[in-house]
Amino acid sequence: MSRRDEILAEMGLAPIWRLREKEGVSQEVVSTEKNEKTNDWIQLKQAVPACTACGLHKGRTQTVFGVGDENADWLLVGEAPGAEEDRLGEPFVGQAGKLLDNMLAAIGLKRGANVYIANVLKCRPPGNRNPEPEEVAKCTPHLLRQIELIRPKLIVAMGRFAAQTLLKTDATIASLRGRLHSYAGVPLIVTYHPAYLLRNLPDKSKAWADLVFAKKTMTTL
Ligand code: URA
Repeated sequence: MSRRDEILAEMGLAPIWRLREKEGVSQEVVSTEKNEKTNDWIQLKQAVPACTACGLHKGRTQTVFGVGDENADWLLVGEAPGAEEDRLGEPFVGQAGKLLDNMLAAIGLKRGANVYIANVLKCRPPGNRNPEPEEVAKCTPHLLRQIELIRPKLIVAMGRFAAQTLLKTDATIASLRGRLHSYAGVPLIVTYHPAYLLRNLPDKSKAWADLVFAKKTMTTL
């Protein structure tokens, strides 16, 4: 113990003095980290609407960045904006989005409240066609940056494009469901895309099982 510490200890000030210094330092670190994160989000939110990396930028009304709680535990990833999303600039606002909101409500979740929703592609493919491999390759870095910034506890990949992109696989949804995967150390669960479920009602029960599995998994994280 230094002479200064001894004197402070004798005066009964040492614990207080240490506590204040520690609190001061850690608050500074926390606020620097927060500022850096805010700046990173600002940069990304400027980069995405300015992106011309693939041909989809020519046909878009606007980019569809993603929506929700930027510190969410849950990250849901879909495929690409459709017509309504392109018009309004928010993911999953059409028919598939209504189903998604209902599915979330069924497990006690709500978009924006500890949930973030994003797509693999930020621009609408014309006529809602499937994303091309080159479009996925060019757009994926935006999604990966979102994942880095959100740092979710669990990712739910909805549909083939989200699952195959994040897991770097060609495997089918059917073969990927029901197991816990990992993207960069973040647990990841695969389920059907809500738009697919609208066309294939019998598979809704499987999607329900996936969400129950996800909810149960979250309680362990
Ligand atoms: N389908 C998607 O994959 N994403 C949307 O935002 C809307 C429909």
